[in-house]
Amino acid sequence: MTDLISSSRFAPVDIGADISSLRASDRQVLARLVAAARLMDALFLRQVWSGNETMLQALARKTSTEGRRQLHAFLLNKGPWSRLDDNAPFVPGAPPKPAGANFYPIGATKEEIQNWVDSLATGDRQEATGFFTTIRRRRDGRFVASPYSDEYQQELAEAARLLRDAATLAEEPTLTRFLETRADAFLSNDYYASDVAWMELEGAIEPTIGPYEVYEDELFNYKAAFEAFVTVRDAAETDRLKSFASHLQSLEDALPIDPSYRNPRVGSLTPIRVVNVLFTAGDANRGVQTAAFNLPNDERVLREKGSKSVMLKNIQEAKFCAVLQPIAATALTPAAHQAVSFDAFFTHILLHELMHGLGPHDIVAGNGATTVRKELRDTYSAIEEAKADVSGLWALQRLVDAGHVADAIGRSMYSTFLASMFRSLRFGINEAHGRGVAIQLNHFLDAGAVRVAADGRFEVVADAIGTAVTSLTAEIMTLQAEGSYQKAKSLIGRLGVVRPEVRRVLERLDGVPVDIEPRFVSAEGLSEV
Ligand code: ZN
Repeated sequence: MTDLISSSRFAPVDIGADISSLRASDRQVLARLVAAARLMDALFLRQVWSGNETMLQALARKTSTEGRRQLHAFLLNKGPWSRLDDNAPFVPGAPPKPAGANFYPIGATKEEIQNWVDSLATGDRQEATGFFTTIRRRRDGRFVASPYSDEYQQELAEAARLLRDAATLAEEPTLTRFLETRADAFLSNDYYASDVAWMELEGAIEPTIGPYEVYEDELFNYKAAFEAFVTVRDAAETDRLKSFASHLQSLEDALPIDPSYRNPRVGSLTPIRVVNVLFTAGDANRGVQTAAFNLPNDERVLREKGSKSVMLKNIQEAKFCAVLQPIAATALTPAAHQAVSFDAFFTHILLHELMHGLGPHDIVAGNGATTVRKELRDTYSAIEEAKADVSGLWALQRLVDAGHVADAIGRSMYSTFLASMFRSLRFGINEAHGRGVAIQLNHFLDAGAVRVAADGRFEVVADAIGTAVTSLTAEIMTLQAEGSYQKAKSLIGRLGVVRPEVRRVLERLDGVPVDIEPRFVSAEGLSEV
């Protein structure tokens, strides 16, 4: 039986960033942001389960080795359930994890809540199904929507005070604006202006703090969980992104598809920020660590301002060292392992994000104008993720050939991606990224572009990989342009599987950590500012 709270599953790593070049006032801003972020941790804990705070206190009093282990796992998972193991409980006496977390009344069924929501007038229904309310039971037994600004009043007032304090210290006007409007939002429960201000952030400090993702609400995916990312911008990577952006139209013009499927005018794509993490909290720091995110989720802001992608470079690097390298050592031949590099790994991640914006999106199929997303339905995510990966390799090869990207990346990117495919497959093929990776790996095997050595280890076949990458890019983008659900379905059926030779390697990866457990070394230094 697996030890649910084995300490070897999350490798401890130091996470920090060089902030020595920042102004003293900026370091004071960061200290306040970290203090506000800690409040998000407390709020998230309460959002996960109404019993969390009591159980945490009980665990903190335990002195036995097993008690310490349970406390450690509790803090890592933000509750007594292992998020890696379908929320299996690891503290004796813990109930099953409530699907609706602590967003809905204890004991209320999904049907009861749905019936109540259906009975409401439009405005009230929007409140009840909105991001920023909990549903509570009144004394008379009826349900009522309670705004976060009431539900979490005390902590949010303190967080607002810290953000205002930071705003007066900040010298970057867009940062001041975000901090002030977000402080207002904590008290008014209206997050619109601060989401807009977040989209417009410039300068060295890039904070994300508040209620955002809805995954913790497994009942309805309505309710936003509190989280915080206190980060600073990576200047060198930001420049590199700018240079990639200047090549996007020429990449689109060269896509290996029928010219009529190419977009003659690639519009403005989702902006990407590359940052380094100083501190994360709440929903951003539980179980497997977030390595990139795309926000906001509010439809109104999305329509008016679009969204922004944030890539957490030092988190990616920590995962690369603690997880990807040991995977490469086990799954790849020694020569292929030698070639693996972080530079190639991270550059491909950037290209993956950019390539989501290229290729077919708005298409003509069947009954006229439509979108790839609409036509491909349940196959869309896996196909789109495979597209971003494989066309990212295709684009990188073109940029290397044209001298825009270093040859060293060209030499290491395929082996690096091969190792990274095994990392994705460990999370299973029921999720879009894993399924998309299975399609690619099996295509490469069938094309003779990846081969299995006698000892079961994998390696890239240098002469064949380029052609195989181009042919899969062409196959996927063509079926997207045609809006062909049937072709998507058959591609997934044929290649979206784990074959025996792949399964054998995955079994050998048992002792390799699944993810990292960060220790925020730079943030610890800040608290004394
Ligand atoms: Zn993606």
